[in-house]
Amino acid sequence: MLVYTEKISERIRYSFETVLRERLGIAFSFTDDEYFFEKYDGNKINYSKKKFKKCLNILPVGLLHERGINPAWNNTYCNDEEPTLPSAYPEDIFSAIFYHLSSYREYVRTALDKHGRTLPDKCALMHKVPIVDMWIENFSMHLNQVFPDLTIKKNKYSAISTIDVDTAYAFSNKHWAIALGGYLKSLLNLDIETIKLRTSVLMDNEKDPYDTFEYLQNVHNCMDIQSIFFFLLADYGRHDRNICWKNKNYRKLIKEISSQSEVGIHLSYHSVDDMDRMKKEIFRLESILEKPVRKSRQHYLRLRLPITYRYLEALGIEEDYSMGYPTEDCFRTATSFPYYFYDLDQEKKLNVKIHPISYMEITYQHYKKLSPEQALICIRQKINIVKKYNGSLVSLWHNESVSEYKHWKGWRKVFEEAMNNMMK
Ligand SMILES: [Zn+2]
Repeated sequence: MLVYTEKISERIRYSFETVLRERLGIAFSFTDDEYFFEKYDGNKINYSKKKFKKCLNILPVGLLHERGINPAWNNTYCNDEEPTLPSAYPEDIFSAIFYHLSSYREYVRTALDKHGRTLPDKCALMHKVPIVDMWIENFSMHLNQVFPDLTIKKNKYSAISTIDVDTAYAFSNKHWAIALGGYLKSLLNLDIETIKLRTSVLMDNEKDPYDTFEYLQNVHNCMDIQSIFFFLLADYGRHDRNICWKNKNYRKLIKEISSQSEVGIHLSYHSVDDMDRMKKEIFRLESILEKPVRKSRQHYLRLRLPITYRYLEALGIEEDYSMGYPTEDCFRTATSFPYYFYDLDQEKKLNVKIHPISYMEITYQHYKKLSPEQALICIRQKINIVKKYNGSLVSLWHNESVSEYKHWKGWRKVFEEAMNNMMK
C-alpha cells in the first residue's frame, strides 16, 4: 500500500502505523512525490486535499498537520452527539482515531477528583463501547471493497486477568506499630470480630483473609487464563499500605507468583510525577525477581499525561496497564486494543504500549455501589462488547476483593463467573 501525503508529520506517521500496520496488518509506505504516486500501479491511499484517480481519497481535516493543542477539536470529536460510523469515505478517520488514542481532550479538560485523576466527561460516557474499534472494523470492510486483493489481518479476541496487590495480607507480616494501630482502631469501633480474627491470624490459627493467592492461581489455571500480578512496593504512606518490600514472606510470595504468572510493578500513589520514586520501586521488584521489570500499573490508576509515560519509558517500562477511569466502566481512549502512547507535548510516539483496562471490580463495588449480581451483569456486557470487536480484554481485580471478607462478601462468585465468561 502506498500512502500519499504532502508532508509526513509525526502525527500522520503514528496514526497510519497504528491503524494500517498494527491493527490491520497492512504493510505500507509514505510518499510525498505526487508524480511517483500517480504512476504507482498498486493499492494506494491519498491523504491530501489533492484529487487523484484510481485510489482511495481521504480528505484530511487538519488535526494531523498541526502541532500542540487546539481546544476547538473537542467540539468536533467530543460533543453531545452519539459517535457514529462514517457513512462514506473520504471521512478522515485517521484524525478521529488520533484524537482518541492520544488522549487529546485530557490536555484541555482538567476536571479532577480528590486524587487528581481525570474525571470521565460526557464524551467518555459515550465510550461504553470502544468506538475506535468500531471505526477500524468499518474501515477495514471499506478497504476490502476498494482493494479486493488486499490481505487484511483478522484480529482475534484475547483476554487477560490482572491482579493488583495493594495489601498482600490484612493482618500478618505487618510492622508491629501498624498491627497495634489496627487493634486500637478496632477497639475504638468496638469491632470485636476483627480483633478476634486478627489475633487468630497472628497466632497462626487462621489464614489471613487477603491471602487469596492460591485461590486466584487455581482459578486462573483451571480456566487457562493468562495473568499478571502487579505488586505495590512503596514506602509506607496514607495511600500506600503495602507490606514492607523487605519482608521475607512478601518477597517469597512475589517470587512464587512469578513462577506461574507474569509480574509487574504497581507504582505508588506519589510516583505519578516522581521519576526517582518510580526508579526505586522498580529496582525493588527487580532485586526480588532478579530480572528486569517491563510491565507496570499506577496505584489508584493515577496518571499525569504525558509525564508519567515519559518517565516510564525512560525507566525501561514497555507496557502499562493504567489506562482506565476508576469511577466508570468506559473505555478511556475509546479502544480495547493495545497501542503506543503518543506524547502531545513532545509530538512523538513513546515506546510504551498501553493496554487499556476493560473493567475494574472497584468501579462497581465502591464507586457505583452495585451488588455482586448487578456487577456481574455489567461485567458480562463488557466482555461481550470486547468479544464483538475481537478486542483485548483486560480485567482488573485485587487479591482482597476475592477474600469474602467484610464488604467483599459475595464477590468470589462474580470473579469466577467473570473469568469463565472471559474464556468462553
Ligand atoms: Zn492499587
